[in-house]
Amino acid sequence: MNAPIKEPSFRESVDLMFNRAVSLMDLPPGLEEKIRVCNATYTVRFGVRLRGQIHTFTGYRSVHSEHMEPVKGGIRYAMGVNQDEVEALAALMTYKCSLVEAPFGGSKGGLRIDPREWDDHELELITRRFAYELAKRDLIHPSQNVPAPDMGTGEREMAWIADQYRRMNTTDINSRACVTGKPVNAGGIQGRTEATGRGVQYALQEFFRHPEDIKAAKLSGTLDGKRVIVQGLGNVGYHAAKFLQEEDGCVITGIIERDGALFNEKGLDVEAVRNWIMKHGGVTGFPDAAHQAEGAAVLEQDCDILIPAALEGVINMGNADRIKAPLIIEAANGPVTAGADDVLREKGTVIIPDMYANAGGVTVSYFEWVKNLSHIRFGRMGRRQEEARHQLIVDELEQLSADKELGWTLTPGFKQKYLRGAGELELVRSGLDDTMRTAYQSMREVWHERDDVTDLRTAAYLVAIEKVAASYRALGL
Ligand code: GLU
Repeated sequence: MNAPIKEPSFRESVDLMFNRAVSLMDLPPGLEEKIRVCNATYTVRFGVRLRGQIHTFTGYRSVHSEHMEPVKGGIRYAMGVNQDEVEALAALMTYKCSLVEAPFGGSKGGLRIDPREWDDHELELITRRFAYELAKRDLIHPSQNVPAPDMGTGEREMAWIADQYRRMNTTDINSRACVTGKPVNAGGIQGRTEATGRGVQYALQEFFRHPEDIKAAKLSGTLDGKRVIVQGLGNVGYHAAKFLQEEDGCVITGIIERDGALFNEKGLDVEAVRNWIMKHGGVTGFPDAAHQAEGAAVLEQDCDILIPAALEGVINMGNADRIKAPLIIEAANGPVTAGADDVLREKGTVIIPDMYANAGGVTVSYFEWVKNLSHIRFGRMGRRQEEARHQLIVDELEQLSADKELGWTLTPGFKQKYLRGAGELELVRSGLDDTMRTAYQSMREVWHERDDVTDLRTAAYLVAIEKVAASYRALGL
């Protein structure tokens, strides 16, 4: 593949990366195109009477691949939403679900709206109307198409969508499974809100278990003490940065937001920055850090790990050669354009690609969907047996501890922690951790074993496309 001369659009970027991977595969003629193209994109324009006049909104739901159903993917609220973007995001959902073996096809939706311009009640009216338009065409449906949160939406919007669907389908016992990312008290699952950020943390933990990979990124040691710059402190960036700081000893040296960036070599307190943003609407004025009006400069600062966690295309042909981070983990979808990807690959930067790095969200969405369909409370079945088994282990340890065979004594905290059987949150976390480890290993195997594969992204595409192709073959296509 020739390197692009002009900056490709988001969708062109996804296609270029896809083509790069399929050129290394042996797919039957025609199948490659069938997998690459978006099956259908529905555009809706609807009016809502607000503030005494009718406002018209434009929304999309794109279905990329139905090799597995339902198709899955978030709904984004942003002014930049357009068909090209929604289709690129839907394609990434197909590959993401395939890579982590969440049994879904890929889809994505978007509404062109600035959610900050409307109050809660207005947003509810707009969301319910959008949901109505999609649900009446089966573009929201427990067995056909299951949305989730994305940029600009969260559990509140998902609750409105679920309720709207339920009203339209009063006899559907599975109606709760029509959308994921709902509040816990409305059919959601514990750990979904932070799942994407948690997945980014688990992905980095797994990366740092492989000395060969650490070396490829010109790094050494563990996550402890690594200098991290995060671009975007929204739901994903905030949780990733918080967990890495609080649990892995990372030093968050830079945070880039809409209104500028903060930099402090000694580390920024993620929780304090988040609270500041909530209160003041941006990072401007935050004490204990150098503030730069031009966020872009911090993206190019020296650090160990760069986490773009907001919009697509922030690392592009205009700045790629100035990015110093030896390791980039794509918490956002498509933050590195295909042109920038070529430049960075050339430089030897290791990129942990989006379709893997941010798959934590859809992984936990899958758990939520299964929970809704099975109508059981997770973490209840078998819990008593599990607790009895834990009791035996703790008894044994207590005996050893009393006999001074252990160099330590059991604390009440230890007993409390280990006597409890796994509840929903523990199940979600361990399921997510397991998924992130397994998917990473499938990618890295291709990365290291094939001479013609020099980066994790191509490896990820190869693994994902191979699985999609296998289901098409099984379908008889
Ligand atoms: N919007 C998220 C993503 O891009 C989550 C999708 C889902 O849970 O279905 O992966």
